[in-house]
Parts: sequence; C-alpha cells; structure tokens
Amino acid sequence: MSAANFKNCRNIMITGASRGLGLQMVESLATSGNSPAKIIAAARNPSGAQQLQKLAEKYSNIHIITLDVISQESIERAAQEVDVLLQEEGLNCLINNAGINVVANFETVTAEKMLENFHVNSVAPLMITKAVLPLLRRAARQGGPGMGIHRAAVINMTSLLGSVELNWGDRANNFKWYPYRTSKSALNMVSRCMAVDLVEDGILCMMLHPGWVRTDMGGPEAPLSAEDSISSVLAVIGGLTEKDHGSFLHYTGEPLPW
Ligand code: NAP
Repeated sequence: MSAANFKNCRNIMITGASRGLGLQMVESLATSGNSPAKIIAAARNPSGAQQLQKLAEKYSNIHIITLDVISQESIERAAQEVDVLLQEEGLNCLINNAGINVVANFETVTAEKMLENFHVNSVAPLMITKAVLPLLRRAARQGGPGMGIHRAAVINMTSLLGSVELNWGDRANNFKWYPYRTSKSALNMVSRCMAVDLVEDGILCMMLHPGWVRTDMGGPEAPLSAEDSISSVLAVIGGLTEKDHGSFLHYTGEPLPW
C-alpha cells in the first residue's frame, strides 16, 4: 500500500492541491490506512477547488489553506497559518508541487515567459521552504535518528525535462519548451543548494519526477494515471532515508541523470 510508510509522518503540506497531482496526493493520503493526522492542502483559490472542498468535508484531517506561491505576502500568511495548526510538533513533510508550463519554443520565447515560469517553478519552492523552515526544524529535532518523513523532508516536484543530460540526441527533438525545461533545471539546482544548507538541521531535501501523467499539464495522451503516479510517488517519499538526501529520482525510485 503506497502510503503505508507514512505512519511516522504526523503531518504534511502540499502546494497546488486544487487539482492534478496535488489533489491526488491529498486524496491518496486521506484514504490511506496510515493517513497523517494533518494534511495541509494549499491552494491559491480554495473556493474554486470544488473537489478538494468535497474531500475536506469527508476527511477531517484535511486542512485547506490559501497560498498563491508567487506572492510573498501570501507565503508569509500561509506559514503563519501552518504554524498555528501544527504548533510544537512542527512540519514533517513539505511537498512543493505547484507548477506551470509556459509553452514556448526558440521562436516564441520571450523574457516575460521565461520569468513567469521561473517564478512559479524555481523561485517559489525556495521562498516557501524558507518561510516554513522554523517548523521543519522543530519537527526534525523531535524525530529521532536518520533522515526522512519521520523527522522533516522537503520534496520538490521536478521533471525529467529539467535534465540537461537527457536533452540531447533523439530526446532533444521533443518538448522544445525553453521556459519549462530551464525552470525545472533551476529547481534542481535550488534543491541541491538547499540540501547542502539543510543537512545540518537533519532536514532531508530531494527532487522527484512524477512520470508523464494525465493531468491538465500532462495532457490526455500521457501514459500514467494520476492515481498510479501518486501511488508510486508516495511509496518513494515514504521510504526516503539519508542516502536519498540531495537526490533527483524518478517516480519508480531510480536515480535520474542531471
Ligand atoms: P496541473 O494539473 O497543471 O496542476 C498545477 C497545480 O499547480 C494546480 O493546483 C494549480 O493551481 C497550481 N498552481 C499553479 N500556479 C500556482 C500559483 N501561483 N499558486 C498556487 N498554486 C499554483 O499540473 P500537475 O500535472 O498536477 O503537475 C504538478 C507538478 O508536477 C508540477 O510541478 C509539474 O511541473 C510536475 N510534473 C508534472 C508532470 C505531468 O506529466 N503531469 C510531469 C513532470 C512533472 P490552480 O488550480 O489554482 O491553477
């Protein structure tokens, strides 16, 4: 069972929980036998997130908060709300999942398109992690030895398309998206930098590619359902240890080339 390893994770915060993979993570965790005591589902417009609202009516451990990841004011307000919700226990797991794909090739790309994609995909995960760092530290101090979601972990949802090494040869002829690809490469470097800085606190930090999934972003031709992707993603997250600190993993748990 995918979320079985979550039994020692008391709480989790997921950004971009209104639809797609974020919503699926909330649902899969809420319906699991080992559901965390608090699932904090962050969405920029909760009143428009009907499916998330329905889930929260059914499962009392889902707490919906407002978070627009590109607004520093919203990030700070959300961090305060999370602090009130979690208090002394701190935050065990932050999943920076919210993302956008600004589709633009060499001909159509503009500075504005690059910066828009960078703000959501690369800058926001850094700013959100900084804002909840005291809560992550609090949880890490209480969780015992080793690293993982029994203490504190930051999981950044990245993409295979951010791999510089894989964007070569035959593979390079697909998805010629400058803003998205570079924003995910930058997210990978942000994640590695954070892994270097957070190791002292015992906070695990890594990046995960969820597969090519049928969501609004992945499109209808993607081979994986959100349910299957997230079942595997949660199994990987649940099994993370210090050996995975700073890693870039496929949803199957295999390492990916940078
Ligand atoms: P999606 O269906 O397009 O959903 C994107 C989510 O991000 C929505 O909840 C959206 O909220 C939220 N979001 C976007 N901008 C935001 C902002 N400024 N503030 C707060 N939330 C914001 O995408 P997905 O397929 O679930 O993707 C989730 C993550 O996985 C992304 O980081 C994506 O890059 C990554 N990924 C996906 C695939 C795939 O095949 N699907 C492959 C590789 C990586 P609204 O509803 O308010 O717009």
